[in-house]
Amino acid sequence: MSKVYFIKNESLNDDQLGSDALKLLKTVVAASGHTFEKEVPLKVHFGEKGNTTFLSAKCYDPTIQYLKEMGVSPSYIETNVLYRGSRTTTDKHLETAKAHGFSQIPIIIADGDLGTEYVEVEIPGEYIKKCKIGKGYGRFNQFIVMSHFKGHIQAGFGGALKQLAMGFAARGGKLEQHAGIAPVVSAKKCVSCGLCIEKCDFDAIEMINTAVIDPDKCVGCAGCIAVCPEGAIRNSWSGSNFLEKLSEYALGAAKDKDIIYISFISNVTEECDCTGIHMKPIADNIGVLASKDPVALDTACLDLLQQRSRKKLFENGRVSLKHAEKIGLGTMAYELVALD
Ligand code: SF4
Ligand code: SF4
Repeated sequence: MSKVYFIKNESLNDDQLGSDALKLLKTVVAASGHTFEKEVPLKVHFGEKGNTTFLSAKCYDPTIQYLKEMGVSPSYIETNVLYRGSRTTTDKHLETAKAHGFSQIPIIIADGDLGTEYVEVEIPGEYIKKCKIGKGYGRFNQFIVMSHFKGHIQAGFGGALKQLAMGFAARGGKLEQHAGIAPVVSAKKCVSCGLCIEKCDFDAIEMINTAVIDPDKCVGCAGCIAVCPEGAIRNSWSGSNFLEKLSEYALGAAKDKDIIYISFISNVTEECDCTGIHMKPIADNIGVLASKDPVALDTACLDLLQQRSRKKLFENGRVSLKHAEKIGLGTMAYELVALD
């Protein structure tokens, strides 16, 4: 059974959330006997341009200050995204980070300007044998993975596992996880607005009275699903095993690394921080949690959210958790330790 530490915080006060994250970090460090190396990157998500609910830079400030006081050099680390947007290339990604207030420490974009720089990490996965992990991660042994816990169109929810799986993977690794996902358009619901065609970076959609997706060109990025105003596009999951592949990539990202995970259940939106629009939160703010076990942490976040909202929100994400447990990334059995 893994320990997950929790501080209740129903506010949206970033300074307070950041202080709670630091308190939890210190607790995990003390409980596990963790000692920091000289350089420790913080896994971050800078938020797509137009998104308003990503974790604010202020949430990281107390942790950054603490690491510096401990003689540790912190940096932000991230990879470029698969689809067209404000974080597709390193230049644009750095611009977006700066515009969103992330300028306190150096930023490492780990997979190079085109997302093609990676190291291969071997794992005993059922679907993946070699993970393509952003090359820049290779030179570090330790990370602090900070996650905004919220919904995700394909994964069910985005938390620590997703930060590892998609956030550490180079472009080829992201594609490998998405492979086999084939979205389909409901001709009945489609109003032929063309927004999905504009969004698709892979020219996989054409208008033949209604939108039609070419499965041979589609890479399964889900961009079209996110932008369709009619909810006319749905994932067809058959044969994709996306949720299991996500767990296997998380295993590859965490292999031989010493990681502390901190997750914030606040501003919980239906879709993830890659969505470049303002979204209304769909659940109450709950607080901040931390653990050295990403599976236990995500399970605790999901349980707390479902208990509080009395709905089975993001339930399909449990497929990833069960598979992650099966392949040895962590355990879904946890003890929740509440701090004041
Ligand atoms: S965005 Fe939706 S409604 Fe618009 S063309 Fe595409 S599938 Fe049809
Ligand atoms: S059709 Fe949709 S899921 Fe497929 S590549 Fe285009 S935007 Fe991505």
